[in-house]
Amino acid sequence: MLDLTGKVVLVTGGSRGIGAATVRTLAAVGASVIVHYGRSEQQARSLVEEVGGEERAAALGADLAQPGAGAALFREAVAWRGRVDVLVNNAGIAPTVTVDDPDEAWADTWAQTLQVNLVAVADLCREAVRHFRTRGGGTIINVASRAAFRGDNPDAMHYAASKGGVIALTRSIARGYAREGILAYAVAPGWVRTDMAEGYLREHAADLARDIPMGDVVPPEEVAHTIAFLASELARHMTGATLDLNGASYVR
Ligand code: NAP
Repeated sequence: MLDLTGKVVLVTGGSRGIGAATVRTLAAVGASVIVHYGRSEQQARSLVEEVGGEERAAALGADLAQPGAGAALFREAVAWRGRVDVLVNNAGIAPTVTVDDPDEAWADTWAQTLQVNLVAVADLCREAVRHFRTRGGGTIINVASRAAFRGDNPDAMHYAASKGGVIALTRSIARGYAREGILAYAVAPGWVRTDMAEGYLREHAADLARDIPMGDVVPPEEVAHTIAFLASELARHMTGATLDLNGASYVR
């Protein structure tokens, strides 16, 4: 039933983790995919080969910590096939800092996290809205987090705040541009088994097993399947919604 044949999708942070799983799923259901990477160029290029080579995918690099890089990335992505139908804002970082750390570490961590996780996302969304408008519509899917709703640990307040911003941004786009055929969704995973979570998962395996009623963290493929469903437009009227994947560890 899921068929994305003919759709061109930009996946930020497609080189690893949830993004790489998303690229595989989207390609498997027919989409052409732009695999964005920051540092992991080799992984992105291997993934392009894996999903069918240059006929079906392209790798594009951009450091989203640099102001303006998100907008430039979107324009380059449009240049590949002359259009983008779906934008998946997945790239993100989760460094840690607490109120007890030095001022500079606090300020730098907040600034970098908000730049990558929120400002670059907003810049990409802005370009997408302007592009989609010229084409009668398009879809934005933003990867937020359970932390946006539940809050996070004291060393990740900046991360939770950035993801709260992503939710508000997504809802605003959905409300503001639905009349122009522009759809916007968020997905909000709890812990997902990727590099980002690896250290925490190793140290807190027992706590997590207690905390998550399903008993395990989320496989990246389940987030990928959710994104593919949203991209399919099978449920367009869900625009503005956030889909939770957290094994019932936080039921809103
Ligand atoms: P991951 O395995 O650490 O992968 C992060 C991805 O983001 C990589 O592809 C990386 O690209 C890209 N990225 C990071 N900083 C970048 C930068 N400055 N410029 C360009 N690209 C950058 O993380 P993940 O777990 O898959 O996370 C994906 C998304 O899910 C993030 O938004 C994260 O906040 C969210 N999330 C994750 C979890 C979890 O438990 N894992 C839970 C909830 C939400 P390069 O390697 O090419 O630099």
